[in-house]
Amino acid sequence: MKAKIAVLAGDGVGREIMPEAVKVLQAIGEKYQHSFEFVSADIGGQAIDKVGVPLPQETLALAKQSDAVLLGAVGGPKWEGLEYSLRPERALLGIREALGLYANLRPAKVYPNLVDASTLKREVIDGIDILVVRELTGGIYFGKPKGIEKLPNGEERGVNTEVYTTEEIRRIGKVAFEAARKRRKKVTSVDKANVLESSELWRRVMIDVQKSYPDVELHHIYVDNAAMQLVRNPRQFDVMVCNNIFGDILSDEAAMLTGSIGMLPSASIGAKVGLFEPIHGSAPDIAGKNIANPIATIASAGMMLAYAFQLDKEAEAIEQAIVKTLDMGYRTKDIQSPGTRVVGTDRKSTRLNSSHLGISYAVFCLKKK
Ligand code: NAD
Repeated sequence: MKAKIAVLAGDGVGREIMPEAVKVLQAIGEKYQHSFEFVSADIGGQAIDKVGVPLPQETLALAKQSDAVLLGAVGGPKWEGLEYSLRPERALLGIREALGLYANLRPAKVYPNLVDASTLKREVIDGIDILVVRELTGGIYFGKPKGIEKLPNGEERGVNTEVYTTEEIRRIGKVAFEAARKRRKKVTSVDKANVLESSELWRRVMIDVQKSYPDVELHHIYVDNAAMQLVRNPRQFDVMVCNNIFGDILSDEAAMLTGSIGMLPSASIGAKVGLFEPIHGSAPDIAGKNIANPIATIASAGMMLAYAFQLDKEAEAIEQAIVKTLDMGYRTKDIQSPGTRVVGTDRKSTRLNSSHLGISYAVFCLKKK
């Protein structure tokens, strides 16, 4: 197949991890005979420095004309003093909104060799493989009325509104069931239907959507219990589908089960062009030191293959290359443990001994297989 991929490296470690993900995609292209065209553009702080805005029109136009977008990270102390609407992070909201991405997918998976990187006990997290599907454009973050008003008695009153339509729930439900079909065929819908009417509708619509997916089990759980079960017995979950606010909170909780933020990819989908990015930020504290972990971005490229191009076999090859790299004992600093070999992102680095191959060793594994 042929695909045009917009490559938006962004700021900080984004510039170090993105070339590694592109190398892995190139290796996939060679091995499986796909033609990937990579077109880079500016976003975030680097775009502000060049043209004064975090999301230039040309970048947005490129994203819209591409088959998928691969994003690094944006932000950093240099731009922190800017007015909110001009901050690098505005580019993230802007691009997600412009592309109409209403579903955010975040896997939380524990690689066998990294079980001990988690703060939880091995027997609790060993083998977890969860996908949190979060509704991204509705719910309390967008519902109206919203705002802060002055009351006659001098007090203030803050309001936000949790609101969902049948169609908004149906479409995120379908994303969850489709994803579950490619996995262990179990969807857990998270709500607060014992208290909230919007959740009552959410539950009813999920039950209705399930009728089109008789091969997939549907379970319901209240959000407070879900938060507890995630740390008590996370292995019970396969796909968790959540509204915007519950998904925001639970996806961070699920992610942290796995240990390092440098390992966690994400996908935002729903419209023609999907956006794939690591969940971490630009990590200014480690940027430029050649110690960033590129796995989250490489795994995001894997999600792009699966969810944007339906290249499941190729996505699995990336997964296997990551596992193999870890099996061989290569680690970036954030996930190092006794007996492992600490490497940098870039194998060409002069700061590291030339025998250190870096995590881009994944590319090598792909080519060799
Ligand atoms: P962060 O995710 O950048 O960093 C948090 C911690 O995780 C840091 O200690 C960092 O060194 C570490 N870390 C992050 N990515 C890593 C990697 N690949 N390998 C190893 N360690 C890694 O979050 P922050 O420090 O709160 O934010 C820094 C900047 O990034 C801010 O400007 C923030 O607004 C921005 N940000 C951007 C995104 C995004 O682009 N999607 C997301 C979150 C934060």
